[in-house]
Amino acid sequence: MSESNQYLMKKVIIQIGVVFGIITAIISTKCSSDETSDTTSELVIPNIIKTESQLRDEAYKADPIYGNIRNLEDYWLAFKTIGETQYGYDFGDQEVNIFTDLTIASSDSNRDDAAGIAHGSCKEGIIDIAINADYWAEYSFNRKLILMWHELGHDVLDAAHINGERAIMNTPLPDEYDLNVFKKEEADLFNGKDLVFFDCDDPYFN
Ligand SMILES: [Zn+2]
Repeated sequence: MSESNQYLMKKVIIQIGVVFGIITAIISTKCSSDETSDTTSELVIPNIIKTESQLRDEAYKADPIYGNIRNLEDYWLAFKTIGETQYGYDFGDQEVNIFTDLTIASSDSNRDDAAGIAHGSCKEGIIDIAINADYWAEYSFNRKLILMWHELGHDVLDAAHINGERAIMNTPLPDEYDLNVFKKEEADLFNGKDLVFFDCDDPYFN
């Protein structure tokens, strides 16, 4: 074998070695990915971790009154039931219009962050509430309840805003409550502790 042939031979052997090395690498990569899919094909019980908000909502949904709420009008029916059976109110007949017909884009500039607007304040027998659909879609059940109690407070009880970080009639709306805290704040609204009335003679409401 001439020197140039020897050189060529070495070069070929090195090239074969490189190719073999690549093939080995591909096979071993493939094997390791097969092993991975083997483990995922086993029965894996997912470890579902619920958020605090989801756990809170479960407590509300177990409540015999809040747990029956399915649609927007049901919020009013629950509010009415609690007010009339636990706090001595008589709300009489009400024409109920509650819609998620407000959006962030459609809000007027003064109230562009309003999660809801009670148009029925100081109007006897009329509940007229616009809920912001953008916020509604994001809210937990607990926050929806706080928002609806706030707007029904304005609309049906003629309740004005008060300064009380935890109060349902605070603005901005309080964050989520545990169920027992909500019931306390609900009581403070219905029993008058946190109830400051609108001045319905104000032209704003007429
Ligand atoms: Zn308000």
